[in-house]
Amino acid sequence: MVDFRRLEDANPDGKTALVRVDFNVPVNDTGSISDDTRLRAAVPTIRALQEAGAKVILMSHFGRPKGKVEQSMSLGFLQMPLTELLGSPVQFAKDCGGDDSKQKAAALKSGEVLLLENTRFQNEETDNDAGFARTLADLGDMFIHDAFSASHRAHASSEGIAQFLPAYAGLSMARELDHLSQALDHPKSPVLAVVGGAKVSTKIDLLQNLVTKLDMLAIGGGMANTFLAAQGYDVGKSLCEHDLKPLALKIMDAAKKANCQILLPTDVVVAKDFAANAPHRVCGLDEVADDEMILDAGVQTVDQLADAIDRAKTLIWNGPLGAFEMVPFDTATVEAAQYAGRRVSEAGLIAVAGGGDTVAALHHAGAAEKFTFISTAGGAFLEWMEGKALPGVEILKKS
Ligand code: ADP
Ligand code: MG
Repeated sequence: MVDFRRLEDANPDGKTALVRVDFNVPVNDTGSISDDTRLRAAVPTIRALQEAGAKVILMSHFGRPKGKVEQSMSLGFLQMPLTELLGSPVQFAKDCGGDDSKQKAAALKSGEVLLLENTRFQNEETDNDAGFARTLADLGDMFIHDAFSASHRAHASSEGIAQFLPAYAGLSMARELDHLSQALDHPKSPVLAVVGGAKVSTKIDLLQNLVTKLDMLAIGGGMANTFLAAQGYDVGKSLCEHDLKPLALKIMDAAKKANCQILLPTDVVVAKDFAANAPHRVCGLDEVADDEMILDAGVQTVDQLADAIDRAKTLIWNGPLGAFEMVPFDTATVEAAQYAGRRVSEAGLIAVAGGGDTVAALHHAGAAEKFTFISTAGGAFLEWMEGKALPGVEILKKS
């Protein structure tokens, strides 16, 4: 386990807790919230603090206002939904660390909640300016980081502030850290990672780190094409980064040295058009025509993956196995996800997944609820898998 300070270690009674949350929720065309998962994720920590008698100040970024006040990116619209979720009123400060914040923070009573305006309305946030971090810190007595999804950034409200206040992990952050460290740092082996998605180039560090740590690595999706091409297969007009073929071979070599078994597709689904329901066929690796592209893994590959899932005690998944947004090229992803979900309940498999498209794909497969843990983070989850130190997590570690 990562040894970090938790909410349980804090003594917030009568104190003011500054809580970093991630309220960067998706909104639809009419400006209303299309998915309130991120608001819900913050509720347990807020409630725990309220019950412990703390005054609660919430800080979050939203969108990319680039250091300017942009009314369209004001956090004011979250006041009502948050009030409803919490079942108690949430106040709103029209600035982040300015006069309104100071007045409202000073007037807070135990159990009351104040949401500050978008932290990114000033460049000092993303610059991790010490003066700004101090201004925020002066509003309270302790810092609670509850936004794992923002922990790969060293910003004033998420990292700099900890220079001036004792820092603790909120409940949502602690849940992420516990599950992710269980899956990658102290896993039950054998450990299998499934890495798919579009391109090798976005996941080089990830692949390089994983092959040194795991027993099996299944590579799928568009990125598998680069590995297949590197082995001399003709991938037609598939998405393929030909310039990265040498790197693919290097990764395979590193895997061999580290005793990590690499699983690549053994059969593929090909089509001439990148479109839903495009006419398609399943074929062997040496049967892809020049005008065809690989859009999914074949049945044999899914069987091979199921065998690997059977052998694994821990599964880490990032990246879909095919162009899952288009039927029927979602088949391999859906089947493998459902199979993994079944192994969790039937065989005690520990299955952890993260990544924007991956989580969407697992929901699409109806398998998300069956997984042991789904990370709320995209970028931070990837950096964790890459073995990088996350600034927002480092500040929570016990020295
Ligand atoms: P995540 O967001 O979970 O990290 P990525 O963004 O890396 O995942 O990859 C997801 C994308 O990869 C999806 O849009 C999917 O359509 C695409 N993809 C997967 N397989 C293929 C393929 N064979 N050809 C083209 N695109 C693919
Ligand atoms: Mg993505």
